[in-house]
Amino acid sequence: MNKKKSAPGAPKLAPSRKSKARKTFRVGVMGGTFNPIHYGHLLAAEQARCKFKLDRVIFVPTGDPPHKDSDAVAPSEHRYLMTVLATSTNPYFRVSRVEIDRKGPSYSIDTINHFLEKYTTLNPSIYFISGLDAVMEIMTWSRAPEILEKCVVIAATRPGYDTERARECLGERVFRKIKILKASALAISSTDIRERTAAGQPIKYLLPESVEQYILNHGIYGEAAKRG
Ligand code: ATP
Ligand code: MG
Repeated sequence: MNKKKSAPGAPKLAPSRKSKARKTFRVGVMGGTFNPIHYGHLLAAEQARCKFKLDRVIFVPTGDPPHKDSDAVAPSEHRYLMTVLATSTNPYFRVSRVEIDRKGPSYSIDTINHFLEKYTTLNPSIYFISGLDAVMEIMTWSRAPEILEKCVVIAATRPGYDTERARECLGERVFRKIKILKASALAISSTDIRERTAAGQPIKYLLPESVEQYILNHGIYGEAAKRG
């Protein structure tokens, strides 16, 4: 017998405070150049999803990155397609074109506001997922205080960047607002993958095989890498 069921005719209890609270739709947003996407990105996103019970993680490849030398960045359509390939096997993952299709430089705060608006009927809460290296520069991002106010910033640990240095660099007040995610350390970077590819060295096991094949088939990141 279900002990929670009230006896017939018993007065209905008012719903508890807990059941009254509106559920939020927890959206992880992971921005990046993804030039190319690799297992470091995927692992950080998946571990953030599990730890913060996210309903969805949206990968947002940059269009016109304000902090990068554009010459070294592969065309956005390639980066977008590689991100789609890499994320397709995870039902919680999505890829957004919002920054690619936006005219002019892309700012994270505009992307955060875009998703707050897009999911407004679902009572969204945004979890902005970044590596610790990127978060250490957060105060240089456009409208940084608004970012810290409107979303939870998650900083995934990354080899070579320690949290104590981040605390010193950001100051205690900002650091306390950031959630540190102790991601299983992967010393993988897109820079290293680009360099290896250009030198004709293997990139296997650094990124999903579908992305590796895409890079080789399209000769992205250097002639040496082109499949003959
Ligand atoms: P690049 O070497 O070109 O800078 P990257 O590997 O740093 O590439 P980005 O596209 O710059 O990749 O990173 C997107 C986001 O993912 C950033 O917030 C970055 O800190 C984070 N990130 C990248 N690699 C890792 C990793 N191995 N572990 C955790 N976070 C990572
Ligand atoms: Mg980077």
